[in-house]
Amino acid sequence: MALIEVTNLKKSFGNQEVLKSISFSVDKKEVIAMIGPSGSGKSTLLRSLIHLEEIDNGSICIDGDFLVKDGQYANQADIRKITGKMGMVFQHFNLFPHLTVKENLILAPKLRKSESMEEIEKRCMDLLRKVGLSDKANAYPSNLSGGQKQRVAIARSLMLNPQILLFDEPTSALDPELTGEVLKVMKDLAEEHMTMIVVTHEMGFAREVANRVIFMDGGEIIESNEPEQFFQHPQHERTKAFLHKNW
Ligand code: ADP
Ligand code: MG
Repeated sequence: MALIEVTNLKKSFGNQEVLKSISFSVDKKEVIAMIGPSGSGKSTLLRSLIHLEEIDNGSICIDGDFLVKDGQYANQADIRKITGKMGMVFQHFNLFPHLTVKENLILAPKLRKSESMEEIEKRCMDLLRKVGLSDKANAYPSNLSGGQKQRVAIARSLMLNPQILLFDEPTSALDPELTGEVLKVMKDLAEEHMTMIVVTHEMGFAREVANRVIFMDGGEIIESNEPEQFFQHPQHERTKAFLHKNW
């Protein structure tokens, strides 16, 4: 069974149809690179998966549970349970500026109250070590570089032990020399078989790390293929045109 199953998802803003009957599925351990021009609906699709946007019709099934089925949303408790299986990392980090790095990480698990503070703090330090920032636990976001902020955001997204991580252009706000350190952390996660959907303009990452590339344009999935095929033998004219411009 697929971990993520999206069927005939439709979403409009006003009279603009932004997602036009999208269907796709993601298996456990897959790393999907989602690419496409600005305005094609990539962010709206990711945000819909984690219920930051409500869709108009269609279904989203996560790990066997319907977040929304034929346009009907699950109840609040189930929505919380289902979206809790996913973490999301944003382009602009979205760290709380008035909290230290450590406080940013422990906030959500502390509110959930399902573990002792000791356990939470241990995981916090383990994750900061994993992203190479053990020495920044007591720093404030304003004293970190963009690359460090994004690594903190990734560590924070892992604090609730998600099964799925969604990334929305995680390196697009970074100076080019800082993208590598963030991509490295993402690559490590992929190697540990985290299931990931990564919206990105980093074609190198898509090629090397993803096991599938999904190309979106105009609110539709135009093409989905393994990276080798996708980059060497794009099937659709729109894919070819996009790759010609961006790669
Ligand atoms: P992408 O991430 O691929 O650049 P988006 O999902 O952000 O695309 O946007 C798709 C389309 O939906 C764009 O035309 C955008 O202007 C529109 N859109 C996105 N969010 C909103 C919103 N909250 N209200 C109105 N229109 C929106
Ligand atoms: Mg976007």
